Amino acid sequence: MNKKTNYIFITGGVVSSLGKGIISASIGKLLQARGYQVTIQKFDPYINIDPGTLNPYEHGECYVTMDGMETDLDLGHYERFTGIHTTQHNSITTGRIYKTVIDRERRGDYLGKTIQVVPHITDEIKRRMLRMDEPDEHLDFVITEVGGTIGDIESAPFMEAIRQLRWQLGRRAVCVHLTYVPYLKAAEEMKTKPTQHSVKELQGMGIQPDILVLRTERHLEDAMRAKVASFCNVELNCVFLSEDMPSIYEVPVSMQQQGLDAAILRKVGLPLSEQPDMQSWLDFLDKQRRATREIHIGLVGKYDLQDAYKSIRESLNLAGIYNDVKTILHFINSEQITSENVAEQLAGMAGIVICPGFGQRGIEGKIITSQYTRIHNIPTFGICLGMQMMVIEFARNVLGYKDANSREMDNKTPHNVIDLMEEQKNIMDKGGTMRLGAYPCALRAGSRAYEAYGQHSIIMERHRHRYEFNNAYKEEYEQNGMQCVGINPSANLVEIVEIPTHRWFIGTQYHPEYTSTVLHPHPLFISFIQTCK
Ligand code: GLN
Repeated sequence: MNKKTNYIFITGGVVSSLGKGIISASIGKLLQARGYQVTIQKFDPYINIDPGTLNPYEHGECYVTMDGMETDLDLGHYERFTGIHTTQHNSITTGRIYKTVIDRERRGDYLGKTIQVVPHITDEIKRRMLRMDEPDEHLDFVITEVGGTIGDIESAPFMEAIRQLRWQLGRRAVCVHLTYVPYLKAAEEMKTKPTQHSVKELQGMGIQPDILVLRTERHLEDAMRAKVASFCNVELNCVFLSEDMPSIYEVPVSMQQQGLDAAILRKVGLPLSEQPDMQSWLDFLDKQRRATREIHIGLVGKYDLQDAYKSIRESLNLAGIYNDVKTILHFINSEQITSENVAEQLAGMAGIVICPGFGQRGIEGKIITSQYTRIHNIPTFGICLGMQMMVIEFARNVLGYKDANSREMDNKTPHNVIDLMEEQKNIMDKGGTMRLGAYPCALRAGSRAYEAYGQHSIIMERHRHRYEFNNAYKEEYEQNGMQCVGINPSANLVEIVEIPTHRWFIGTQYHPEYTSTVLHPHPLFISFIQTCK
């Protein structure tokens, strides 16, 4: 802990899904624009060690950090907004807190003490909120978002930790509370009562919020803001509105116009100094507003839920904006794709992304899609499982191995063109045991991938998989037109396949979507959309 670091705690009330992650990321962005070093971390009250074992229906996409932590999708927002690299220290769950404490207890570190939620669990939460495991960091601000909603039984220890830290840190701690102000149609009124209750609940836990952000679907008059301020003991100039925006990337600017960053600086006693530098962000927004020509991209996957492919969606949108087009994404359920209806299912799409995933469900539809787009020369981007399905399709329909498959789906296939990685063979546990995080990849000069990456010969990309291209078939693929153009230099694993004669047919074993940010969109997505348009 650095003596100068300030800590911002972000909690939410009334309902979930208010966009706490977006507000946290926006605050991070605004403070960065004023020259401050920031990081943003998320504390989730559930007991899983990480969301890696969670079904996407439960928790949306699992976002992977450079150092291979499987985390909450909000970390994707943090990185896309601020360009910072998060690590395992930026994503904490109740499960991890308890595991640390219990492991310590088993080692005998507590010298015979009774281990309790207070102080042992809360101390461990505080230690992590203060980022004691990262002593060399020099941060001006640590932004901590707490998942869940005020009043949840499971988030109580986190609230107690924040209460204690406020005492300990004094002015260096700022509490931001995000609530919801509903509009009652029948009464034609906005209702602030839930906000008042939510703040009371927070106060009941000993936390007085410094700043309120009210999520609303309609504009809230100043008189209402004043009412909230006076009922909640918050200064009027510390009550902000987060109205629905045409794009989440407008949120930082709206917050800045209302003075949210200035309010935070005032609270911690830092000078307001000169104007923040938001020029590149504003240029991006300008580009976004001007990108009105639409292109349609199909996402072929099995999770019919927006959040399941969050980073892929954002990467495509961003790549569209940088190509001056508005990307309209269409989810196409791979379980419903058959050889008979594939043409109809993909009709009107300028390009197809074959999505990542696990398990048997929906894979035949991905394979049929891959065959169709390959034969019809439709730009196709396969990511992780999507790349594996491209490889299987090629084996079945070009190499003539009708029973080709991945060991994941068919343990007995004689043509295991996708196979379990050697180092995975003795692993039984499911949590945190895949090939995770960033690994180098060497690109073949002259390949489309190499050109897209601006002729870099070595790139770093993040992974999350157990299965891998089977090198026994490599030569056969290359002789028949599918090239292995990206290779991990030390393990010799195939990371990218492409068909050079096709308009755009690239599969990556890694996840490029995790590194695409607002100001630095990913080159492969840019190149893909460029071809699609
Ligand atoms: N299920 C595949 C594997 O484990 C792909 C994983 C993914 O798409 N993230 O290799």
